[in-house]
Amino acid sequence: MSKNEKMSGAHINRRSFLKGVAATGAMGAIAAAHPAAAAQAASENKAAAKSWKDKPDPIDETLISDAGTYDVVVVGGGHAGLICARVAAMKGASVAVIENQNEKSYIRGVGGGQVGTVNSQFMLDQGAPRIDEGDFLREWARRNVIRHNPRRASYFVKNSGRVLDWIIKDVSKEQLAKNCHGMSCPPKPTVLQEVSGWKFYYGTAILGSIWRDLLKTHQDKAMADGAKWFYDHHAEICDLDGSGAVTGVVAKRSDGKYIRFKARKGVALCAGDFSNNREMVIDILDDLRHQAEAQGDINLVKTNGRALIFFQGCL
Ligand SMILES: Cc1cc2nc3c(=O)[nH]c(=O)nc-3n(C[C@H](O)[C@H](O)[C@H](O)COP(=O)(O)OP(=O)(O)OC[C@H]3O[C@@H](n4cnc5c(N)ncnc54)[C@H](O)[C@@H]3O)c2cc1C
Repeated sequence: MSKNEKMSGAHINRRSFLKGVAATGAMGAIAAAHPAAAAQAASENKAAAKSWKDKPDPIDETLISDAGTYDVVVVGGGHAGLICARVAAMKGASVAVIENQNEKSYIRGVGGGQVGTVNSQFMLDQGAPRIDEGDFLREWARRNVIRHNPRRASYFVKNSGRVLDWIIKDVSKEQLAKNCHGMSCPPKPTVLQEVSGWKFYYGTAILGSIWRDLLKTHQDKAMADGAKWFYDHHAEICDLDGSGAVTGVVAKRSDGKYIRFKARKGVALCAGDFSNNREMVIDILDDLRHQAEAQGDINLVKTNGRALIFFQGCL
């Protein structure tokens, strides 16, 4: 086994064995003896060869039906997608949210409850000291060895607090006082704000179970403004026009049918992270790749929140 294979955790399994067989030209013999096995092998082989960098297979146009045209098509109704849909609908746009999860588990599946922001009024009211924005940004840059996106970091520092305040604005003071608090607030001298030069800030609102109610409220309000949620729909490909602009999305329903959502103004891709896609992590997240290579175990990177979900299930 090569060093790379060791690093990537590659080992011989049914799929890699079949791939090897194909490479040595023995597939013809299998095909002659067992056509069904050969067809399955060919399809597994194709799936194994597929990379996130490859273009997706085109979908037969005759299999796609029309789901209509919306100003904004949101792919993924998690934290980002739900609020995106809410704000777009609030501003008068027609909105479709394509969501992979089913309706029953949806809000629970979005998760969350501890929300870290900068200088929200909620946290200031809990006694959190006001964070110096420049200081926070310098610490962020230092921790990321200046490989962060400075514009995005600055946007977060300037806006995250007021976004949180807006999200919770309809919750009564009594409810907030009863169910929520600021992490480590009011500050105590035993909470360290600087250790060996690393700085820590008071910014995490602990909203607990109220968070899910809030998400549901924002979804209800978005729906009251006309936004539509399409559950059990998995977005498969984006439609592009001749100039390369994204004009819509083709999704697959749980019954196997394909549906096209056309977008007049834009498609918001809010489908979450890729930390469970090993190949993408290796290709894109240098830090995790280096860490995994140093440990000799790429499995280190397989964190997709599943452990947390499992942990929650045990409570
Ligand atoms: C159990 C748990 C608890 C957590 N607690 C916290 C916390 O307390 N504080 C905190 O800051 N972070 C927490 N996190 C992390 C936080 O949830 C994520 O950082 C956040 O949800 C990311 O938001 P997002 O909108 O980018 O992606 P997500 O919230 O993951 O949303 C992506 C959505 O897109 C859908 N989707 C994906 N692909 C497709 C597709 N092809 N077609 C259609 N739909 C698709 C998914 O079903 C999902 O609903 C927690 C995570 C978990 C798992």
